[in-house]
Amino acid sequence: MKIAVYPGSFDPVTNGHLDIIQRASKIFDKVIVSILQNSNKVPMFTVEERIYFLRQVTKNLDNVEVDSFSGLLVNYMKQKSAKVIIKGLRAVSDFEYEFQMALMNNKLNPEIETLFMMTSSKYSYLSSSIVKEVARLRGCLKGLVPDEIIFEIVNKIRKTRG
Ligand code: ADP
Repeated sequence: MKIAVYPGSFDPVTNGHLDIIQRASKIFDKVIVSILQNSNKVPMFTVEERIYFLRQVTKNLDNVEVDSFSGLLVNYMKQKSAKVIIKGLRAVSDFEYEFQMALMNNKLNPEIETLFMMTSSKYSYLSSSIVKEVARLRGCLKGLVPDEIIFEIVNKIRKTRG
């Protein structure tokens, strides 16, 4: 069975992420979308909220699983019997860092391959940070994140404001 892991912060999941998940699910027997818990970024949504969002938006994809991990990705992959890391590329600016990570992961475990998928052009400008910025400034999130989670994102921001 060909198992791939798609790691990221998904804070929150965007239509750009979902596009990669859908396309990857057609290539692999199983795709595990996994939230990195030990990221340096201070998240807006808890890991539980992010898992809930991802589960909501992937509920129609039978071979997609949602999980979270901390520590080294290669160790987590071994645990899951996965050999392929999926990464999305939006622009040249993503490349340098991702290239370094791919080489390091391959050095840590030479059996691991990183597969880069190009963003669909209509999502190339999307990132979780820009979505959060728009949401904070009360802009419309339609088309940026899946419809099912718009209300919850807006609600959370409203609550944080008090
Ligand atoms: P960000 O906070 O930059 O949106 P994450 O850390 O959650 O992203 O990203 C997880 C993965 O998804 C990374 O491989 C990232 O390059 C990819 N990704 C993020 N946004 C897009 C997009 N719009 N199109 C394609 N890939 C994307």
